[in-house]
Amino acid sequence: MSSQYAAPIVGWYQRNARDLPWRRPDASPWSILVSEIMLQQTQVARVLPAHAAWLERWPTPSALAEAAPGDAVRQWGRLGYPRRAIRLHAIAKQLTEQHDGRVPSSAKTLAELPGIGSYTAAAVASFAFGQREPVLDTNVRRVLGRLVTGQALPGQATSVAERRMAESLLPPDGRQAARWSVAVMELGALVCSVARPACERCPVAELCRWRLSGSPPSPPHRPGVRYEGTDRHCRGTLLAVLRAAPGAVAAQELAGAWPDPVQRDRSLAGLIADGLVTQLPDGSLTLPTASA
Ligand code: SF4
Repeated sequence: MSSQYAAPIVGWYQRNARDLPWRRPDASPWSILVSEIMLQQTQVARVLPAHAAWLERWPTPSALAEAAPGDAVRQWGRLGYPRRAIRLHAIAKQLTEQHDGRVPSSAKTLAELPGIGSYTAAAVASFAFGQREPVLDTNVRRVLGRLVTGQALPGQATSVAERRMAESLLPPDGRQAARWSVAVMELGALVCSVARPACERCPVAELCRWRLSGSPPSPPHRPGVRYEGTDRHCRGTLLAVLRAAPGAVAAQELAGAWPDPVQRDRSLAGLIADGLVTQLPDGSLTLPTASA
């Protein structure tokens, strides 16, 4: 039996959901998997063109597996956190070599792919294959926390109690469960935002424990981590130079890209350790040309 929340939230979703390519009925499991990796740390508006370009170039896992990992990093462009490009390439190789080029349908098997965590495994199993899996991203955790337990914001990591609560709310049918999860996710993205939830537009406002208890404030919001001048910024700058180059780049050429030599060397060592950059025997640097 579905919870009291299901009908109003799913009804709201049917009227208000954004039309996103990975949610369309004809979206392939590969398209859904790629979207989940891209959406992990990047906003929908930036993911949309990157996802379309990626799928056009590599419409199947096997197509990506044939490319060099460096092509994946180059195609990733400035989407941020480029280790995800290397991970997607490794996933494509494993799917091609061990799964006949197909995305598996079970969350357990999905979680065995490189760099796929329990959230992504559940999301792909649910959205691509209608498996009955609780999908707990930050939006879902925030909405359910406010609605059901009256908590302003969820803690850092998903707790056992949260998982149990999410499982208890899942409709019994897998496809309905997927619909419910994506609807809660969308409510979190469009209405029940972190700082200013638009409770006046919320379909479950009358049932929301947090709102009914007077919307008690959450602990002070942690300031966002700055980007300028960080190692992440430095890594992004060095990668941009390598992406733009037609071949390998001499180490001295990279030296001009970032003023602080200590930070530059540290960031470059990190990129090499992460498999995003390869150092050739002559000391020059390039995007990776072959899988590790
Ligand atoms: Fe979120 Fe407000 Fe809806 Fe509660 S009533 S679920 S806080 S938008």
